[in-house]
Amino acid sequence: MNDIILLKLGEIVLKGLNRKGFEQKLMGNVRRRLVPYGKFKVYCLQSTVYVEAAEENVDMDAAFEAVQKVFGVVKVSRAAPCEKDKDAIARKAIEYLHDDMLRARSFKVESKRSDKSFPMSSIQLSQYVGGELAEAYPQCRVDVHEPELTVFIEIRDLAAYIHAAPVAGAGGMPVGSNGVAVTLLSGGIDSPVSTYMIAKRGVRLIPVHFFSFPYTSQQAKDKVVELARLLTQYCGRMTLEVVPFTHIQEEIRDKCPEEFFTLIMRRFMMRIAEKIALSNGAKAIVTGENLGQVASQTMEAMASTQAVIDLPVLQPLVGMDKEEIVQMSRKIGTFDTSILPYEDCCTVFTPRHPRTRPTVAEVEEAESVLDVEALVEESLQGIERIHVDLEGMA
Ligand code: ATP
Ligand code: MG
Repeated sequence: MNDIILLKLGEIVLKGLNRKGFEQKLMGNVRRRLVPYGKFKVYCLQSTVYVEAAEENVDMDAAFEAVQKVFGVVKVSRAAPCEKDKDAIARKAIEYLHDDMLRARSFKVESKRSDKSFPMSSIQLSQYVGGELAEAYPQCRVDVHEPELTVFIEIRDLAAYIHAAPVAGAGGMPVGSNGVAVTLLSGGIDSPVSTYMIAKRGVRLIPVHFFSFPYTSQQAKDKVVELARLLTQYCGRMTLEVVPFTHIQEEIRDKCPEEFFTLIMRRFMMRIAEKIALSNGAKAIVTGENLGQVASQTMEAMASTQAVIDLPVLQPLVGMDKEEIVQMSRKIGTFDTSILPYEDCCTVFTPRHPRTRPTVAEVEEAESVLDVEALVEESLQGIERIHVDLEGMA
């Protein structure tokens, strides 16, 4: 008999009105997340989502890892099944919780019965199993008020289940419960982290990458596809929009004053991102900008890039230190890919002396020689869409 996985829901429990919808979203996300590991039954009872094997030979270890990355879950535990008999339950608890019982100095047992035909009440069962555990582990005393360890027993339809301390879930809200946004995904360290952070708030994301072939290589594009694929662990499946950016960059290089190259380029990114957002019902643009990190990330520079669009720009990393961003990128598993050494379009045609405190009027003036609309349209026409999914995800 397989063990089961229990997911404790997070903030969504607080949202009285939307709760059902949020639970449905979460279960859908969990089901999709588990597809690579076999057939599972996923259902929700009293703010807990249950994941049970629905066939032999599912990969329960991989499933347990995977659900820890699904947003909307605060705690995850794995529970051992056993026969619905008080002595079998006590024996199983003694064996399964061996390490936990030796580590803890105090414990209590909490039982729940969804199978009301079980011959003992929850309290009787807790007392019985508590007594057996106390006898087997005399160094661990019973403390019903502030125990270090709580042993949970659930009497369910098919079996009884025993579990102990849960591990932390990913937190946040289920992806898809809070609208859609476009996220600008470069090959750098920052933008995968900003994407992760907004997905955590329940937003479904459409990643957009600006690609300047041949100034940036096929490997640079493959790297972004790989980053998007890694992010699907948290964000669910996504469609990466790869926007051809070469002509725009060449036009800027040939016709505009060098000190404004980066700013004008970033304004084009925003305009194109907004068009993609509007045609997909997305309500914001996410970037990995971080105040003061590079020349284009002063407040004045940000004002000049944001001036060309109406949608809000979400910059979840704006106040973080680089070291904190690096730590997060390691934690979410994108760091090693991000540091592969392929150029991003931002580093092609970098001005020697970029303007850091431009006025919007100066940038507009510098850009006025370009046929902005035609260039934006041309790029939109050339978009390549790449579906990234969990297929084969380890
Ligand atoms: P990152 O590490 O995410 O590349 P960065 O510190 O290098 O960020 P910039 O190069 O100034 O900063 O880019 C700022 C933000 O603009 C990025 O975080 C990303 O959201 C977006 N961006 C930059 N280059 C691209 C690109 N080629 N395609 C899509 N978005 C991009
Ligand atoms: Mg970059």
